Amino acid sequence: MSRKREMSEEFEANTMDPLVDMPFATIDIKDDCGITDVPQIDLEKGKEDEWISKDQIKKRKKKHKDYQPNYFLSIPITNKEITRGIKILQNAIIEQDKRLAKAMASHGSFHITLLVMQLLNEDEVNIGVDALLELKPFVEEILQGRHLMLPFQGIDTFGNQVGFVKLAEGDHINPLLEIAEAAKRTFQEKGILAGESRSFKPHLTFMKLSKAPWLRKMGVKKIDPKFYEKFISHRFGEEMVRRIDLCSMLKKKQSNGYYHCESSIMIGESSTILQSYRKDTPSWPSGDKNGGEPDDAELVKLSKRLVENAVLKAVQQYLEETQNKNKPGDGSSVKTEEADRNDTDNDNDRK
Ligand code: C5P
Repeated sequence: MSRKREMSEEFEANTMDPLVDMPFATIDIKDDCGITDVPQIDLEKGKEDEWISKDQIKKRKKKHKDYQPNYFLSIPITNKEITRGIKILQNAIIEQDKRLAKAMASHGSFHITLLVMQLLNEDEVNIGVDALLELKPFVEEILQGRHLMLPFQGIDTFGNQVGFVKLAEGDHINPLLEIAEAAKRTFQEKGILAGESRSFKPHLTFMKLSKAPWLRKMGVKKIDPKFYEKFISHRFGEEMVRRIDLCSMLKKKQSNGYYHCESSIMIGESSTILQSYRKDTPSWPSGDKNGGEPDDAELVKLSKRLVENAVLKAVQQYLEETQNKNKPGDGSSVKTEEADRNDTDNDNDRK
């Protein structure tokens, strides 16, 4: 039996314990718990940072028994139309039961979880940061230069414990699923314990009872559907995917309410718009209002933006090249994603 297969089986054997989700966990970590898929650890890879030793595997096997994700990949949701809509929804629910205030997702924290994972120390976090960088070209390949717009409409729950705004149907679903799949593959190939046994279901959480476990003792055992019935098909708006963040579930949140980020990649900096228009969703703000192709004016606008972006990029590259020429011993002209990250990561705690 190949070593890789042997490892997979060992791993599988150790993740068969019926790990249950913990909607009533006593701490409000982003309580994403579940059985991971078998990580595809690439033993052929010889790079030092990718090599997982026998010892490490043993340690990991022990840890798998209580696979508890503590990091996740997040698409931040910041469109004011959406966040305002969610605030109104949350207030409407609180008006019906004041005790539920403590179960609401906090402002600034709204996100779509692409992938959950376990990173147990700084080295593992660094591998996660590398994996995120490696993910970027895959995302670009999936999007093929188009922007990804995510329209949100309606409400659902996970087992009446977690309330979320649903992603509307449409052409954006497939690329999003592909990105989530590519993320899982990329992180698992680096030996990171990532993923869940349940399939990826994009959702925008606005409340979860696990944030206030004492509610259960007070008799609040589920989110009553009547609390959100008025919003059942409400259109909350749409978010353009601009960034994917590697976030901690446990570290102190940032002052803006968003999770602590270890690293981020920017998405679709010079892209056309990949947006799905459902025939029955005439109120999405841009594109063709009747469910067909974008009209001429929209196309002209998009082409203009593309040309502007291309010119800007060329100028930026020219400037960087001339600056680099003046720097001793530095022949590289293209700014790396790593450099981009360091530029934008000032708020983060990474050492
Ligand atoms: O990803 P997010 O933090 O928004 O998830 C909120 C909650 O939804 C988590 O507690 C997670 O375990 C739960 N969840 C679930 N079923 C899924 C996805 C998430 O119960 N398919």
